[in-house]
Amino acid sequence: MSDYWNDRVRSLSPYIPGEQPKDRKFIKLNTNENPYPPSTKVIEAVKNAANEGLRLYPDPECTSFREAVAARYKVKPENVFAGNGSDEILAFAFGAFFESAEKGSKTPPVLFPDITYSFYPVYAKLWDIPFQPVPLRDDYSINIEDYKIAAGGVILPNPNAPTGMPVQLDDILSLAQYQDKNKKVFIIDEAYAAFGASSAVQCIDKNPNLLTVHTLSKSSSLAGLRAGFAIGNEKLIEALCRIRDSFNSYTMDRLALAGASAAIEDAAYYDEINNRVIATRERVTTSLRALDFNVLPSAANFIFIKPPKKSGKDFFAALREKGILVRHFNKERIADYLRVSIGTDDDMDKFINACREIICR
Ligand code: PMP
Repeated sequence: MSDYWNDRVRSLSPYIPGEQPKDRKFIKLNTNENPYPPSTKVIEAVKNAANEGLRLYPDPECTSFREAVAARYKVKPENVFAGNGSDEILAFAFGAFFESAEKGSKTPPVLFPDITYSFYPVYAKLWDIPFQPVPLRDDYSINIEDYKIAAGGVILPNPNAPTGMPVQLDDILSLAQYQDKNKKVFIIDEAYAAFGASSAVQCIDKNPNLLTVHTLSKSSSLAGLRAGFAIGNEKLIEALCRIRDSFNSYTMDRLALAGASAAIEDAAYYDEINNRVIATRERVTTSLRALDFNVLPSAANFIFIKPPKKSGKDFFAALREKGILVRHFNKERIADYLRVSIGTDDDMDKFINACREIICR
């Protein structure tokens, strides 16, 4: 706290990102990064863009990247918004589509699960948007019927994070139609969809209130580049541009634009590495279940697991001592669970061996 802070800053409760260790070398399974390198075509494109052109501002419309996304997903460039990672796009979307409390108490709350990406309540508070967490079922699945109520809008990740559990496309479409009756926007955060959930991208033309949000951080191995995009009706895209251009017109720099376009164009490479991640996830799930872990069914590049015998906090500490970093959320209902990103086969073998040793000692 400081006397210089305004009331807004005082009332914020910022998101706490997963640890990026600097002191010691860990097997890093805590922030859902892809264990495989970006496509060589991406590295080449970034190197080629590192030239005297950096003197000039980048294209504020991110045209080349949006055209690449449009071609890949069979939509029009006007249906695509580009941004500096999907966190930025989500922040803009909360500001663009969900009403602030100052508009009066008639504004119903925005809905999202009680256990979900912990940035959603942070954005809601930043924009002063009323929100209502909706409890997951006891088995941690999303019951779509719970969201068919008067709301200021809905946001769901598919698959959900940190559980990894997917939502069926039929459920998404039925909720989109329900929320459209009151002209409310339904945002689907597809950060991890490439690892096994059904994307709703192909449904945006029939559902003008549906916005899908995507990142290159996970399935394109580019967390360090900061690139993301959203796909939706062109009026939704226009709203995001209006918010962006009220903050910062140049959210993607020249290097990011070059690398992100090259990544979107190299689907063959990324399909291959992501299929490897999926195969490793299935193998690790089987091994952990044999060790009496409860492993939620995952469609993501991470698993959400409850270790036997020890608390989540103690298991997290025991793994850390062995040089393996995972994520523990000290939160009601999930304090005994750990979120484990899927690494290389070699990393995951070390992880399983460490788990076995911790349980047996
Ligand atoms: N959505 C979800 C559900 C996430 O877990 C993350 C990663 N923390 C993001 C969005 C943001 O990804 P990025 O900003 O790296 O694109």
